[in-house]
Amino acid sequence: GSKPGDATSGLHKHLSPAVAHFSEAIADRGEGSYVYTTDGRRHLDFACGIGVTSTGHCHPKVVKAIQDQAAQFIFAQQNVFLGSKPLAGLLDRLLEIVPDQMTRFMFSNSGSEAVENAVKVARAHTRRNGVIAFENSFHGRTMGAMALTTSKTYYRQNFGPLMPEVYIAPYPYCLHCKVRQASPTGGDWYSVAPNIEPYSHYDARQCCNGPQEALTWLLKQQVTPGEVAAIIVEPIMGEGGFLTPPPNFLKHLRSTCDQHGILLIIDEVQSGVGRTGKWWGHQHLGDVQPDIMTFAKGIASGFPFAGIAAKSHIMENQPPGTLGGTYGAAPLACAAASATIDVIEEEGLLQNATERGLQLVQALLKLSKTYPIIDVRGRGLMVAAEFGNEEGGMTAVAGTASKVTKACAARNLLLLSAGARETVRFLPPLNISADEMEEGIGLFEGALADVFG
Ligand code: PMP
Repeated sequence: GSKPGDATSGLHKHLSPAVAHFSEAIADRGEGSYVYTTDGRRHLDFACGIGVTSTGHCHPKVVKAIQDQAAQFIFAQQNVFLGSKPLAGLLDRLLEIVPDQMTRFMFSNSGSEAVENAVKVARAHTRRNGVIAFENSFHGRTMGAMALTTSKTYYRQNFGPLMPEVYIAPYPYCLHCKVRQASPTGGDWYSVAPNIEPYSHYDARQCCNGPQEALTWLLKQQVTPGEVAAIIVEPIMGEGGFLTPPPNFLKHLRSTCDQHGILLIIDEVQSGVGRTGKWWGHQHLGDVQPDIMTFAKGIASGFPFAGIAAKSHIMENQPPGTLGGTYGAAPLACAAASATIDVIEEEGLLQNATERGLQLVQALLKLSKTYPIIDVRGRGLMVAAEFGNEEGGMTAVAGTASKVTKACAARNLLLLSAGARETVRFLPPLNISADEMEEGIGLFEGALADVFG
């Protein structure tokens, strides 16, 4: 084989530079919460392939399920066969964990495709065109999903024209406002670092009931409700910075949808499958049922797999042939997904995500007393820390988060940034141990000391 040095130059020369990579390391092997790279280093993985390797790297049960299935049948195409044994088995498992009314599924390979299919189904069912998405959102990089993505301009740069009939509403970004102050630390909605004065640095559209009022105005001023097929929302804003909306936000969206015959699409691609300590992130926000739900990432521990679940009446009249894709519902992916759900259940990983999340949040709140962390937020093991500046102000110097993530990488902790503001996000495996979490917190503290001195 080629030496690691050769591989590096080949990769640089032949891969599109448009696909950014956080580190120069070349992945070699993964085990549990650790990744080993060809330069001989061992990294503690708090990125998990952006929330994908939910059961850690190469969980033995997931590996065995994939190996066994590979020996049986690698591929059974969904347009050729009614299904496969692993697909039938997976449907049974999914029906146990998705919200009650979600009884029809359509499978694909990536979160973006799931979003595309959700929008297609919503438009076909309602015979309307409009889609409302939110500021800071990320729904994917394909043409349709990209038009719904507002977290960073460079995701769209030079790729237009965008899919039409998309309307963007503000999403709650409550930093230090009264609503958040009233919510005690340690509940399912973590509070701010205590050393910061309560104030909302953002305009009223993004705070408390502001987003609800803004949506009402959008439906009066930009698009009539009768032309809107769907509202698509992340129950915790993922790429946009792990924003945790107040509990009444989703209920308001649900009632707006009900009032106007609009479908509510909840994008659980990043927040789903136990990441937040419940099966689905929206389950933290009261008893709200989506009409269509997307999932991907953590569902199959790293095997490419995604899908949508919907209320039956929304999908059942869709004419045959109007949806599809070569690799959807592939047997290997179904086997990996079933094994993932088994592991999450058998090993009590919802509980572990909740407990380890609290361990992490408490440590971050403590660190906020020494370092310029102005906000700690999230649920379960979807946790973010946002930086201010060293003078105690709300606005961090541009590049702060990337300095911190680089300092973490130098200490062999894989940690990513998120959002257009200076925020780092913690996405460790759902089965991380208390000791590994402690190790990660220690590495993070060391990195903060490196950056802020
Ligand atoms: N929706 C959400 C909420 C996501 O976080 C992502 C990926 N970051 C996507 C959709 C797109 O998923 P994929 O990268 O698998 O296409």
